[in-house]
Amino acid sequence: MTQERRTAIVTGGARGIGAAVAKKLAADGYAVAVVDLDESACVATVDAIEAAGGSALAVGANVADEASVADAVERVATELGAPTVLINNAGITRDNLLFKMSVEDWDSVMSVHLRGSFLMTRAVQKYMVDAKFGRIVNLSSVSALGNRGQANYSAAKAGMQGFTKTLAIELGRYGVTANAIAPGFIETEMTAATAARVGVDFEDMKKAAAAEIPVGRVGQPEDIANTASFLASEGAGFVSGQVVYVAGGPRD
Ligand code: NAP
Repeated sequence: MTQERRTAIVTGGARGIGAAVAKKLAADGYAVAVVDLDESACVATVDAIEAAGGSALAVGANVADEASVADAVERVATELGAPTVLINNAGITRDNLLFKMSVEDWDSVMSVHLRGSFLMTRAVQKYMVDAKFGRIVNLSSVSALGNRGQANYSAAKAGMQGFTKTLAIELGRYGVTANAIAPGFIETEMTAATAARVGVDFEDMKKAAAAEIPVGRVGQPEDIANTASFLASEGAGFVSGQVVYVAGGPRD
């Protein structure tokens, strides 16, 4: 029996980990909605997917804004098909030591990661429940275990784990799984920006990080994409509520 093409949504899909996940899911056969703040920034990912023979749609949306999320999800359902795979990947950092951290730094990080994942998941779950199939993958981080200068981000990423486990409990009976991926050091603009902010050469930072990682290298966006591909697959239906540390070694 040939299966109907499923629709996946990847937030923060314009670049970095989100772009790699979007390309991998498209290669797996999903029609992929590439959601990011700026629709034009999604075009490179969409073009790459289409050039490889896949199907994709660029959608501009702010995941932290309720109306923007509602519009985006409705547009995806109309133009690509009912979304049954959701990758909550959009993220920001606003690092600072606690005593220097502003309320704005705290609120903006909570807003994109937690409020954003909540709004996206709430909007998409009805399509999953209707289809009696769904795969939710939330991006956590090894920072959930604590990281100097990231009180806001580590709290949000630990929150993503609790959110994931609760989704798994509530939605399991509808054929929906929810899992989190907690990446270690992945080479993206986010980690490059961290290096720039602390005044360390990015190559030196990667070398220092690789020396501490058991597999002897930093991660690439594709490392996360491969894990997301498995968790989104039909065959992963008995894996739910888990946090997979993808960090080149044990971090939990
Ligand atoms: P990135 O290169 O900074 O990409 C994040 C993307 O999310 C950007 O395109 C950004 O758009 C978008 N975004 C930000 N706020 C948004 C919003 N409100 N609505 C929609 N899109 C929004 O980051 P990355 O390194 O690929 O990280 C992806 C995810 O993995 C994040 O959740 C991050 O916390 C997590 N993670 C990364 C690492 C790592 O080492 N890189 C490690 C652990 C976890 P703009 O460009 O317009 O801001």
